[in-house]
Order: sequence, then structure tokens, then C-alpha cells
Amino acid sequence: ATPMSIMVGVGRGAKEGVLVKEAAGLETLQQVDTVVVDKTGTLTEGKPKLTHVQPTDNFSEEDLLKYAAAVEQNSEHPIGQSIVNGAKDREIQIPAATDFDSTTGQGVQAQVDGKQVVCGKPSLLKEHGVDFTAEGSPEGTTVYLAIDGQYAGSLVVSDPLKASTEEAIRALHDMGIRVVMMTGDNPKVAEAIAKKLNIDDYQADLSPQDKHDGIVKLREKGAKVAMAGDGINDAPALAAADVGIAMGTGTDVAIESAAITLMGGDLNGVVKAFRLSRGVMRNIK
Ligand code: ADP
Ligand code: MG
Repeated sequence: ATPMSIMVGVGRGAKEGVLVKEAAGLETLQQVDTVVVDKTGTLTEGKPKLTHVQPTDNFSEEDLLKYAAAVEQNSEHPIGQSIVNGAKDREIQIPAATDFDSTTGQGVQAQVDGKQVVCGKPSLLKEHGVDFTAEGSPEGTTVYLAIDGQYAGSLVVSDPLKASTEEAIRALHDMGIRVVMMTGDNPKVAEAIAKKLNIDDYQADLSPQDKHDGIVKLREKGAKVAMAGDGINDAPALAAADVGIAMGTGTDVAIESAAITLMGGDLNGVVKAFRLSRGVMRNIK
């Protein structure tokens, strides 16, 4: 394609909400055969709702939720927000937290009422020496809580699929593109969603670095890879792909790491970007 044809494509994209930052990305997209998608905020709404609170015998539901909301009130993650909203909906007073710290793709921790509270994935609690058996749930992301080094219970938040996701995946398949989901969420949720959406392959329980490495591996095997994601946790993977596509509804870090940003922030935008790249190249060659 000529530089002129690419300029035309960039202009046309802008009108359709496909913002092309690196024009070369549009050209590369034409050769892409594999789309890797993040789950939370990309396939799903990214606005999960708290659905279950399951304390151990030592705590009431209210107390467990109170501690969880206290640590999560400083979190930027949609999971954190859903827990805080869940507590507010139940009119629970959320105490202040100090010494807040977050581990991207793992969870959060802080001091609440003089207690050390850790909230997140089993691996994060295990790093803190907390011993327990993680159950997991196909209904949503299970978040685990430890208070002063003791396992205290779990919360489930479920995040509905975006209305457009199923059709967008079908459209990608129709273009002969393989769709792979890489998520930091647990394998049970990932499996349920992969089945429902007819996704070709999935990898769960991934750290941001694992997502990055997963992309590198696919490329080493000869795939041309576009990655679509929205979070800080997706930034390394977006940068490692042949073409990074950020959801405009996502974090700035993701947008900075990507060649293309979608204003709408759903998978239909990815379909549009593919059509654009193919259309442009066909018209002008
Ligand atoms: P995804 O890849 O689906 O976008 P993330 O990488 O953002 O997910 O998060 C991976 C997992 O880390 C979540 O499913 C959750 O178990 C845990 N996690 C991340 N942030 C938080 C948080 N603020 N509170 C509790 N758990 C969290
Ligand atoms: Mg995400």
C-alpha cells in the first residue's frame, strides 16, 4: 500500500471510531491471522456486580464485605469498584484504610482497623503465607480475603458479556481469524465464557507478564497477532503484539501501548479495524 492509501485509511477509520496512531499498524493488520483478547472490560462489560459473599465461620457477611470494601476503595480495578458498590448498596459503613498497595493482576492489600487485609487471587494470599483451598466459581470472578494472615472468606463478582461480543467473534471467524482469550481470571470463568462464545483457545490465571509471554510464543510459532485489551495489565501484551488495539474505555497505559485505539471500546471496533485494513489495501493497491 502507498503512504497515500494508508492516510486515506487512517482518515476513514477516524470517522468510524477506529483511531490509528501508527499508520503501519493498519497495514500489518491485513496479515493478522490471530486475535488475542483480554476478557474483563473487552469481552465483558467490565462493570461487575457483587453476587456472593461467603465468610468463614469467624466472620459475618457484613464484616467480610466491610473489610473487602475498605481495602478496595483505593483500587482502580472494576472488581474493586463492584465490591465497594456492593457494600454501599447494603448500607455498610466503609472504614478508612492505610498503607494501601496494589499488585497488578493479583489484588490489593491495606491496613484496616489495625488489621492487615489482603484481597485478591489465591496466589496473592499464598504469597502472604495464607493457607486455604480456593474453590472458584463459573459464575464469576472469585476474590479471596485474608485478615491478619487468616483466611476469612471469598466474594464473587460477575461481569456480563457485552451485547456485541458474540456477533463480533462470529464476524472475526468469518474472516478466517482465530480468536484466543488471555485472562488473569480463574480457569472456571474462562472456560464458561470460551464455550459460550465459541472461542478457539484460552489461557487463564495469567499475570501481565504471562500475557506478554503468551503473545511472544504465538508469534514465535508463526502467527501474526493482534491483541485487543483495555487494562494496565494488558499493556505489555499490547506492546508485544504485531498490532496492539486498545479499548478507548480502558486505561491510558493501554492506549499508549497500542497502535490503534477504539473509541467505542467493544469488539465490534476490532472487526471494523480489520475491515478497514482490508478495504484500504484492496482499494488502492
Ligand atoms: P483480566 O485479565 O480478566 O482483565 P486482571 O488481570 O485485571 O483481569 O485481573 C486478574 C485477576 O486478579 C482478577 O480476576 C482478580 O482475581 C485479581 N484482581 C485484580 N485486581 C483486583 C482487585 N482490585 N481486587 C481483587 N482482586 C483483584
Ligand atoms: Mg481487562
